[in-house]
Amino acid sequence: MSDTLTAAAAKPHYSFFHGVERNFDKAASYTRFEKGILEQIKACNSVYQMKFPVRIGDKIEVIEAYRVQHSHHKLPCKGGIRYSMDVNQDEVMALAALMTYKCAIVNVPFGGGKGGIRINPKNYTPFELEKITRRYASELVKKNFIGPGIDVPAPDYGTGAREMSWIADTYASLKPGEVDALGCVTGKPVTQGGVRGRTEATGLGVFYGVRELCNTAEDMKKLGLNTGIEGKRVIVQGLGNVGYYAAKFFYDNGAIIVGLAEYEGGIYSDKGLNLYDVVEHRKATGSILGFAGATEFKNSFDTLEQPCDILIPAALENVINAGNADRIQAKIIGEGANGPLTPEADEILNKKGVIVVPDMYLNAGGVTVSYFEWLKNLSHVRFGRMDKRFSENQNAFILNSVEGLIGKKVTDRERNMIMHGPDEVDLVYSGLEDTMIGSYHEIRESLLSSGASDMRTAAFVVAINKVGVAYEELGIFP
Ligand code: NAD
Repeated sequence: MSDTLTAAAAKPHYSFFHGVERNFDKAASYTRFEKGILEQIKACNSVYQMKFPVRIGDKIEVIEAYRVQHSHHKLPCKGGIRYSMDVNQDEVMALAALMTYKCAIVNVPFGGGKGGIRINPKNYTPFELEKITRRYASELVKKNFIGPGIDVPAPDYGTGAREMSWIADTYASLKPGEVDALGCVTGKPVTQGGVRGRTEATGLGVFYGVRELCNTAEDMKKLGLNTGIEGKRVIVQGLGNVGYYAAKFFYDNGAIIVGLAEYEGGIYSDKGLNLYDVVEHRKATGSILGFAGATEFKNSFDTLEQPCDILIPAALENVINAGNADRIQAKIIGEGANGPLTPEADEILNKKGVIVVPDMYLNAGGVTVSYFEWLKNLSHVRFGRMDKRFSENQNAFILNSVEGLIGKKVTDRERNMIMHGPDEVDLVYSGLEDTMIGSYHEIRESLLSSGASDMRTAAFVVAINKVGVAYEELGIFP
């Protein structure tokens, strides 16, 4: 036996993918599909592992990378690309599977995919990262693993708009004349075919999802809370892309931000924190600690255990676990991050009657707006370009007629609001809001009717039902 095999046998390996399969199996028992269909939904359809050489300085480095297409029941496949030393086949398979279920939940007509390159991007210059990214993209092209109708990557951990731009350019260079080439990847800068509203999409989706729960009177009654978002006391962990925008939309819409946690520590104030002042303070001092009038916690995780109505973990995985779940005082947990609760914490909190709004649904704002970006790329026109002026003229006509009939004029502010025709960002927000509200009620309906005991299982049931029906209606090739 080789050394590697001996070591692997000695150390039991936790499989993320098997973890996803276990959650799937639990939910599948509430569905009607035959075993074969369920096995097909669970399986990863294509797994591409590659190794390619890149010259770094005066050495040649062999780079390990993956692209997994979990489900071809709808095409293209969709999912981010992460750059991290933790990337391995099991992780990419699990994340690709979760993308299939996430897309189904929010009615985005894609199969799930995910990619990863096993590098620490901080160890490379931008020039070296560009070489690695472009080589990865050309490997995907060679094997037909990328394309607007095949598989459409997006940013994830360690990648952003810059990397997506390199991928789009590599693809377009290798496919000269392909008119839809920009639709081969999403999360691009707006100047390179990206869509307005993508940056804040995930945080905004988190807000829309939790707001819908808070607007559902029956659910609030069970928790002993008033209906509506206004006045709800919120703690947010992480002031990055997801956490900052989630906090911003809660704050701007009348919720009270009582606690904020970052890696350097946490702050809490019963009276509420001014989010923008905290962000300014952090910019000026490099820390959220030392913010006037707030109680502070050197151990950032203590912040999560303070009194609040809503807790939004939007930073790391496994932050609420068997060790602290009992001390969480929130009545609602909105999973902004992927996997912030361990299965043990889930069980403890469910028993306590806490409503956990699952990541698979709640942080789907990013992929929803990616879908809008892809539509924009295929239609080759900015959203709102055709109808904005038409709407404004119509609205002016209606307003002037009504003012004439009633003999009264609205204020300038009201006039501007009524007249305003939709810009791209208005349409993106509106599409995202509708998606998050609609999907919330689909999951809630499944919770009430399927027998599932929590929202996570109910969300899985929704996903399995949609993918299962797609397979049935697709028919299976002989
Ligand atoms: P990010 O890097 O922009 O933000 C993460 C933030 O967490 C940073 O500000 C970081 O300083 C902070 N942080 C690190 N350690 C911390 C600690 N111990 N306590 C408190 N804060 C800490 O990342 P992001 O894009 O906001 O992603 C956050 C999570 O959301 C991840 O799990 C990611 O997979 C998930 N997610 C992101 C998106 C997206 O569109 N960005 C979409 C879906 C899911």
